[in-house]
Amino acid sequence: PVVVIDPGHGGIDIGATSKHGEQEKNIVFEFARALQAKITAEGRLQAILTRNEDIFLPLNERVKRARDNNASLFLSIHADTLAEPHVEGATIYTLSSKASDLEAAHIAEKENLADQSAGLERKEDTEDVSDILFDLTRRETHNYSRDFSKILISKWKDAGSLNKNPSRSAGFVVLKAYDVPSVLLELGYLSSEKDLSRLTSSQWR
Ligand code: ZN
Repeated sequence: PVVVIDPGHGGIDIGATSKHGEQEKNIVFEFARALQAKITAEGRLQAILTRNEDIFLPLNERVKRARDNNASLFLSIHADTLAEPHVEGATIYTLSSKASDLEAAHIAEKENLADQSAGLERKEDTEDVSDILFDLTRRETHNYSRDFSKILISKWKDAGSLNKNPSRSAGFVVLKAYDVPSVLLELGYLSSEKDLSRLTSSQWR
């Protein structure tokens, strides 16, 4: 089975920035590479990165890479900032048309702006497929995504710090592959000093 790991942002799109200048695109890339190495060393799964260097990649292209590689799982890695410096810990997002809460809506809105930072126009989803098989596949995929999210949260509890509300959902463009289970992992917040010291530590990774 193939896991496609997606380090968010890249190139001209730097993502979030900490007040000390650390950039999200670099932090999530380092994490993705460490995760890929770990999975490869275990030998049970194949781990492929959507980007292997510091380049810009449109959101739809990330989804396409998951589908082209017949991925069993797509894992998008991010680390955003919040106005509240005391909020910390990892959050796992799945796709939903209606956001689970205000913060989820806000984070999805910010992450969906990635394409615009490189000058790409945002295309609204015009796909209107009413095929029943398509619908069934999408529903099944969604259930797998939620299952994986639950497993990840239960494992992460032992390995790292979780947000108070670690399971959320919103309309992330990058999670829209209808046939690849997809979750978005916000590793933590660059606005939290605690998270930042973890995220920039190779030992923590
Ligand atoms: Zn991001």
